[in-house]
Amino acid sequence: MRVAVIGAGYVGCVTAACLARLGHDVWVVDTDAFKIGELAAGRSPVLEPGLDDLVAGMVAGGRLHAVPAGTLIDGAEIFIVCVSTPSLKSGGVDSRPVQRVLAGLARGAGARTAPLVVVVRSTIAPNRLHQVLDGLPADSRAALRIVANPEFLRETTAIADFERPPFVLLGGDDAQALDRVASLYQGLGAPIHKLDLATALLVKYASNAYHALKIAFANEVALVAGAAGADPRKVMTVFAEDRILNVSPAYLRPGFAFGGSCLPKDVRALVAAGKELGEPLPLLRSILESNRDRIDRTAAAIVASGVRRVAFLGLSFKRGTDDLRESPYLLLAAQLVGHGLQLRIFDPDVSAARLLGGNRQYVEEYLPDLAGLLASSLEAAVQGADGLVICKRVTDQESLRGVAARFEHVVDLEYVL
Ligand code: NAD
Repeated sequence: MRVAVIGAGYVGCVTAACLARLGHDVWVVDTDAFKIGELAAGRSPVLEPGLDDLVAGMVAGGRLHAVPAGTLIDGAEIFIVCVSTPSLKSGGVDSRPVQRVLAGLARGAGARTAPLVVVVRSTIAPNRLHQVLDGLPADSRAALRIVANPEFLRETTAIADFERPPFVLLGGDDAQALDRVASLYQGLGAPIHKLDLATALLVKYASNAYHALKIAFANEVALVAGAAGADPRKVMTVFAEDRILNVSPAYLRPGFAFGGSCLPKDVRALVAAGKELGEPLPLLRSILESNRDRIDRTAAAIVASGVRRVAFLGLSFKRGTDDLRESPYLLLAAQLVGHGLQLRIFDPDVSAARLLGGNRQYVEEYLPDLAGLLASSLEAAVQGADGLVICKRVTDQESLRGVAARFEHVVDLEYVL
């Protein structure tokens, strides 16, 4: 397939050369005459292991071409935008390079009989990309079929990252355009995810934020370890050996705040240990703040929805336990009661008569009226309620869906519906 790659930087050069190796006829354009000159001469304008040889081979084989920006690339079926999106002072990215390219493509697309498939490989947030697209004249915008295709390569291992990715990520709402772009990558043998535009763009941001989070986390743990006389590297090496919980998809499912008798207590204790050792640990400290914020904002949203009588399904911190200590659902229920809402709580795992020890103490402190709020059945909880809050799956999913269908206001905290 003939494709045009716009932007001959780290991403553009690797994308272009690797697509050429996959058998495509690739044309690169850039406003930087030096980069185009280098590529046209068979040299990579960016330093990347293996790229010089790959570029030389592809240019010599007639599969990779470089031409100045503005050149019409006859017969190109897909345009891949790889221009820079540098940081602005505000923290957002400068979308002007992407805007200029899309505006140029939109102008040219108006004259075509078929829509133009434009792949956005640059990293850009969905709201920013939508701003750019909304700024294009409506008629020429309509001629573009935008497909997000975020790039995950790491400099220095970029070719291997391109050729052996964990997945290829595509985002857009035009099935034909998605299929067309997917066919570019068929030769890689990697799974291809076709998502909506915003979801695809956010997988990229989530990935990089998570990598950054892991590094900052390891560094803060190392600070405590070092100050406490432990071996920081050993702590993290053994930590990473746990592939069941620590390095795994566990706890990566979005839902409500965390809680229970261990996580909040242990994070607090680690932060306190850091403080005693002179380490302020801003990241670890922020975990508890973030968790509290999740509870506060949810309570505020339920109160603002105007409901008065709430059927509240689930109270202990997860299914199958009656442990109420630091249950985020109990803390949420307490806030709602504090705001004057009437709650009928149903949790088959919890019985007021069986509350003992620390559990009883916790309830007495945070939700002393619990016994009067507990309903004996699901039906008793929902009877007369004008709002439904689902904290956990207190019965089978089908019954829960049936119950939820009776309500205008439903808050599904753990995506159980
Ligand atoms: P870069 O600055 O190396 O390259 C961008 C190129 O685009 C430059 O050569 C520039 O001259 C060219 N350009 C700018 N405006 C142009 C226009 N109107 N027409 C033609 N060419 C134009 O940037 P990069 O590092 O390759 O990154 C590109 C995008 O990919 C960014 O959004 C970046 O965040 C993302 N990304 C980068 C990496 C990486 O490791 N570098 C990895 C993944 C994603």
